[in-house]
Amino acid sequence: MDTIITIDGPSGGGKSTVSRMLAAKLNYTYLDTGAMYRAVGLQARQLGVDLADEDQVAAMLADLDLHLEPGDGDTRVVLAGEDVSTAIRSAEMGMVASAISALPLVRQKLTELQQQIAARGRVVAEGRDMGTVVFAKARHKYFLDASPGERARRRLEQLHEKGEEAAYDDILAQIVQRDHDDSTRDLAPLKAAPDATHIDSSRMNAQEVLNFILDQLAKK
Ligand code: C5P
Repeated sequence: MDTIITIDGPSGGGKSTVSRMLAAKLNYTYLDTGAMYRAVGLQARQLGVDLADEDQVAAMLADLDLHLEPGDGDTRVVLAGEDVSTAIRSAEMGMVASAISALPLVRQKLTELQQQIAARGRVVAEGRDMGTVVFAKARHKYFLDASPGERARRRLEQLHEKGEEAAYDDILAQIVQRDHDDSTRDLAPLKAAPDATHIDSSRMNAQEVLNFILDQLAKK
């Protein structure tokens, strides 16, 4: 389990940037598990699956054709042969992913896929339950957080960079709602593993967080 580094935390805490940088630095595979939940959410949308109907959910998962490929900076997410990397990144798909991620069948399926990917090599696994459930035996675990206000500010900046307009209050409300939903669900809720190192990135940039983690890894 020395080949797995887990990074969990709420949305907007800087996990993706730091995980990507860490994976590149160590030559590990970056495993973006949020992208997997988003892709399943998109699939359910496209097929018009009723999430309350277990048979429909099970049938969708049995046929799931989902691949993550290293892309230019970001992970390329391929669903049934189609590149959905951009389509899954909207704030709306984040909410859809959050809803679908509470379903036991979905979590079971994606947990299996994530463990299969990690069995093939070294990974930096980013998500909500990497250190608590999927890779509970991992030796290197981090929980990355920042204040909700700071996370909303960063998210707004990202949207502006993409040319999208949004109101700070709306983004903040979405963040608070998604944190609440993710941390109060019964299955694999968002929480730090007891043996995870906490990092509050409110006043740190990505490079500083990366340096901190590299330092910790060197000490272990
Ligand atoms: O990290 P990202 O914002 O892309 O994740 C989207 C949603 O997927 C989260 O709000 C969460 O509900 C769900 N998720 C999860 N477990 C993970 C990763 C993401 O439940 N390991």
